[in-house]
Amino acid sequence: MIIMMKYGAAQEEITAVIERIEEEGFKTHVSAGEQRTIIGIVGSDVQRLYGDFAGMIERFPGVEQTIPISKKYKLSSREFHPQNTVVDVGGGVLVGGEELVVMAGPCSVENEAQLLETAFAVKAAGAKILRGGAFKPRTSPYQFRGLGREGLKLLAKAREETGLRVITEVMAVEDVEAVAQYSDILQIGARNMQNFQLLEACGLANKPILLKRGLSATIEEWLLAAEYILATGNGQLILCERGIRTFETYTRNTMDISAIPIIHKISHLPIIADPSHGTGKWYLVSPLALASVAAGADGLIIEVHPNPDHALSDGPQSLTCENFAKLMPQVSWVAAAVGRAVDDSHEADDRFSSSKPISTVGLG
Ligand code: PEP
Ligand code: MN
Repeated sequence: MIIMMKYGAAQEEITAVIERIEEEGFKTHVSAGEQRTIIGIVGSDVQRLYGDFAGMIERFPGVEQTIPISKKYKLSSREFHPQNTVVDVGGGVLVGGEELVVMAGPCSVENEAQLLETAFAVKAAGAKILRGGAFKPRTSPYQFRGLGREGLKLLAKAREETGLRVITEVMAVEDVEAVAQYSDILQIGARNMQNFQLLEACGLANKPILLKRGLSATIEEWLLAAEYILATGNGQLILCERGIRTFETYTRNTMDISAIPIIHKISHLPIIADPSHGTGKWYLVSPLALASVAAGADGLIIEVHPNPDHALSDGPQSLTCENFAKLMPQVSWVAAAVGRAVDDSHEADDRFSSSKPISTVGLG
């Protein structure tokens, strides 16, 4: 951070600012120009001075403005950690490497039959990780809020039967231990992106974490949330762009595809895309999934349901197993076009494979 003094600021004013900075344990570098003095702050953890401290310095007489030089976030920044982070979620599945990883499954775990049918279908199409909410953050308390611990057990069963890795959301600090016991990845949902106690508790659970972008979070706020996790010493962190709230009401959210290359530019963390929540409409999921891959996403998380018109949550945005199977080869093609690969060493299941393009008319 540098502090620009006003034209003709008095020496006592300059000294007062320097003393206040030194009181915080930082050194200063003063460059006295003909008309203006600039004070640079020297220190490795200057991030702690951003925000309130910078604002307080601007209250000092003779100060024109403070200017941040380095980023507010540090542990998640590429400046601090130039090489890409690759997250090992077990079972040979790496997120952030050359291969794209697809996570798929129902919004909510509803019952054993629904989960197993979906799990086998997404596996046959090439997904490596099964998603499914057991603890559901619903905007309305009158909607299905998940099976809770029963849902975790069903996920563990599906994991055992299919060999897929599992991801599920954890909503509360008191559930972290139970979720960590059953799930390979802890998902922190958009509504909890700034639940700082939850971020720390998940960080300490020593499991890979998926941090979704908050409903109205800026990229900077998202990376500052990531700092809470990284500061616990857990570097196994994946980011997930899932759409943000804008003035547009046609879609549930506006899928911010630009966030994908931006994150790659400013952070070393892998980023995957969730076009299901990003759009809210099943027929937009495949186009936005492909666009996200083209933009460099390290993976996708997609809601798939065997019977979307009977889903207990997010039916309108869920792909059928058939449409998911049609999407996967397209994901591979687009990935190849941008120098990435998708591991398709899965056993094909004829019930779900088709070379026809995805139809965007009719029921999902
Ligand atoms: C979900 O993945 O089902 C979910 C609730 O997502 P988000 O937190 O992005 O809304
Ligand atoms: Mn959902």
